[in-house]
Amino acid sequence: MEISHNADVLIIGGSYAGLSAAMALGRSMRSVVIIDSGKPCNQQTPHSHNFITQDGEKPASIFTKARTQVLAYPTVQFFSELALDGKKTNDGFEIRTDGGHIFTGKKILFATGVKDLPHIQGIAACWGISVLHCPYCHGYEVRNQHIGIIGNGDVGFHLVKLLSNWTQRLTLFTNGLSTLTEEQRNKTQRHQIEIIEKEISSLGHTNGQVESIQFSDMTTYNGISAVFARLPFEQHCALPQELGCEMTEQGYIKADMMQKTSLHGVYAAGDNTSMMRSVSAAVAAGTMAGAAINVEIIEEEF
Ligand SMILES: Cc1cc2nc3c(=O)[nH]c(=O)nc-3n(C[C@H](O)[C@H](O)[C@H](O)COP(=O)(O)OP(=O)(O)OC[C@H]3O[C@@H](n4cnc5c(N)ncnc54)[C@H](O)[C@@H]3O)c2cc1C
Repeated sequence: MEISHNADVLIIGGSYAGLSAAMALGRSMRSVVIIDSGKPCNQQTPHSHNFITQDGEKPASIFTKARTQVLAYPTVQFFSELALDGKKTNDGFEIRTDGGHIFTGKKILFATGVKDLPHIQGIAACWGISVLHCPYCHGYEVRNQHIGIIGNGDVGFHLVKLLSNWTQRLTLFTNGLSTLTEEQRNKTQRHQIEIIEKEISSLGHTNGQVESIQFSDMTTYNGISAVFARLPFEQHCALPQELGCEMTEQGYIKADMMQKTSLHGVYAAGDNTSMMRSVSAAVAAGTMAGAAINVEIIEEEF
């Protein structure tokens, strides 16, 4: 049986960006429905870093505390459900979920994040534990250790330069023939950073702690204690695209400084709009989206 709920604002995705927006809206006495399927991208990482007041906390602890604080505002409701489809209506938007609900709202915010796509066997088990996306989040914990970088071309070279701030013991794995320019290769080698061009078949690990890199030619590289890599990704939720939101060339939802998308009444915030992936950036974007949505409703109704 389907049950209908109406709210000022529907927030799809109730992690860091979504909960921050809900707090701004709850404190503006807006009725808010948060729909969240419980799969934040950092769920496997044991400790979250680089967010003041929460440095070193477990991601789940930050989430639980945030949700408790947000749900203290009586106009905010949280549904642990998956948004299946949505459409524009005459006076707003309608979302249908796997929990048998139909939610309607004047405005909608997608805080749905992205889904990382581990492209090499072993990465999924190590993701956030010893295969890492960002040195600001996890570089300090592996400082001065022997770190591998999986990357090629401009991205690989960028990671090499960046990680050289945290350790001098780096090895670049290009996973096939290098596409570095001559200048990039020379600079990398000038810093005594070995470039290995073999095709990778898998990562060897124990409980997510990487120990080796195995190659298609059956040889193995041992002795690295962490790997940094930029994984392919896709939007966690297809609804923004299905509704007609413009996307960037890199696969993010196009949003302006107020987190407004190309569609009137539709906002997006957090990882789904930005390559700057951090809890603090998602929280900031959610706060901005919440305030901007509230002002838009005021402008339309005052
Ligand atoms: C492995 C890893 C480790 C990280 N470590 C750190 C760190 O130490 N410090 C730091 O600052 N940052 C870290 N980050 C980055 C940080 O986790 C992200 O920037 C942050 O989680 C983004 O928040 P978000 O709310 O945009 O998206 P997410 O946290 O990914 O949440 C998106 C939410 O939307 C929900 N959702 C998606 N689609 C639907 C749908 N159709 N219906 C209902 N719900 C839906 C998902 O279930 C999820 O709960 C890490 C990221 C990764 C991948």
